[in-house]
Amino acid sequence: MEILHVAAECFPMAKAGGLGDVVGALPKYQRRLGPIAKVVVPMYRTEFLYQQQWELVHEGSQYLGPQFFHYSVIKEKNNRLGFDLYLIDINGLLDREKIYGYPDDTERFLAFQTAVCDWVNAWQHLPDLIHCHDHHTGLIPFLLQYGFDFKTRLASIPSVFTVHNAQYSGAFGWEQKHLLPACDLSHWALLDWHHQINPLATALKTAWRITTVSPGYLQELRTSAAGLESLFDHEKEKSVGILNGIDTEIWDPAHDPYLLFHYTVQTVASGKQKNKEELCRRFGLDPDRPLICFIGRMVAEKAADLLAASMAACVAQHPGKVSFLVLGSGERDIEQQLDLLAAPLQDAVGIYIGYQEALSHLMYAGADFMLMPSRVEPCGLNQLYSLRFGTIPIVRAVGGLKDTVTDMGEQNGFGIRFEQASVQDIKAAVSRAVSLYYEQPGHLQQFREQVMQIDHSWEHAAKEYIQLYNSIQ
Ligand code: ADP
Repeated sequence: MEILHVAAECFPMAKAGGLGDVVGALPKYQRRLGPIAKVVVPMYRTEFLYQQQWELVHEGSQYLGPQFFHYSVIKEKNNRLGFDLYLIDINGLLDREKIYGYPDDTERFLAFQTAVCDWVNAWQHLPDLIHCHDHHTGLIPFLLQYGFDFKTRLASIPSVFTVHNAQYSGAFGWEQKHLLPACDLSHWALLDWHHQINPLATALKTAWRITTVSPGYLQELRTSAAGLESLFDHEKEKSVGILNGIDTEIWDPAHDPYLLFHYTVQTVASGKQKNKEELCRRFGLDPDRPLICFIGRMVAEKAADLLAASMAACVAQHPGKVSFLVLGSGERDIEQQLDLLAAPLQDAVGIYIGYQEALSHLMYAGADFMLMPSRVEPCGLNQLYSLRFGTIPIVRAVGGLKDTVTDMGEQNGFGIRFEQASVQDIKAAVSRAVSLYYEQPGHLQQFREQVMQIDHSWEHAAKEYIQLYNSIQ
């Protein structure tokens, strides 16, 4: 079986969040189970691009509205990722430093999707299945069936669409319909949602199967999906939630190349302390206090807007007894709130605004607790990485967090859960963490050892995806 994954991100070529981690790992684990899984993403100007060797495998041209564009497809030569990675290069459109955030993102991802369909159409042996990820690839299942240039050969290829995040749909106005490649617009209703062309909605309507990145998220989407609730409900028969795994080879405290101090379950106490000391030294924090970290996009979805007030409240409640470290970037006003807080509380709060893969690994290793107060969390990888590094998650019980973290008050529980995304609930959860740290260090140590042994590797999920593929072959 040959599967082509199509996405906007694939770690380490391009990552803005969990999507990149999943697309960089799942195909590797699928290959180990037999199927040939390949990945295609846009050719951005990232470090990885310049560090690897590439060969040209295809060239073609298509239209974006009236504009004729030329694209080329290059392939990574040395199988660095454990699967074939292809990049689509479209001069002036995709070859930028950032993945998203440009005013012409609609045009960029439309051209990408058109080029992918055009390229696949030129394959001698077609893939057995196309697996699309998130709205940047959401029009592909439609184009395979109704694109005039593609449908003759491609309409019978099954498609799977995975929803990593339904907060973003990629919607654009019908006045831009000319940007679509020539297609049968008598099926316009498949593209439409609330009088716009909505790639996420189109994928939900036209993909052969839909998956979400946790079972809990699939349930929630029927009642809370940024306006697509009724569609998720309508398509429930072809939908399934498959919990993400983690790449245990990359996220491994015993071998992580980003860490100076490695550790295992047997050495977690001393290993974590050394990483914590390194982290606290960098940010001027006291390594003898409990260290609570947050890593993520500074957006309302992650409840990052509550961080500043929550940290201030917690530090006031436990003066000299708790430290926080925050890594992330996103909305300017949230970043500014955090910067303003950090100055007067600098002995208790460290802030790094930006994206830094290396620092994130040190934080998973050096933190005692990882805070995730998310309002929405499709799966959440931070809590899974935390568990692997013996870091206790403090999470709001939502989406994938609810599926993966049990409360230490329950039998065999290991984390700290709370119900509301509010300063009050965060404060109460942090107080539990602080008491555990000072009053029950033996229990804390037991939890660390327990969580490090939980198996969240990709093997299981990779099998579930393959079963799903087999069911539609
Ligand atoms: P998202 O909704 O952002 O995809 P996930 O929990 O699924 O959230 O995945 C987040 C991933 O992005 C994790 O690998 C996390 O460590 C990483 N990450 C998020 N923000 C940053 C940052 N500022 N620097 C480094 N890594 C980050």
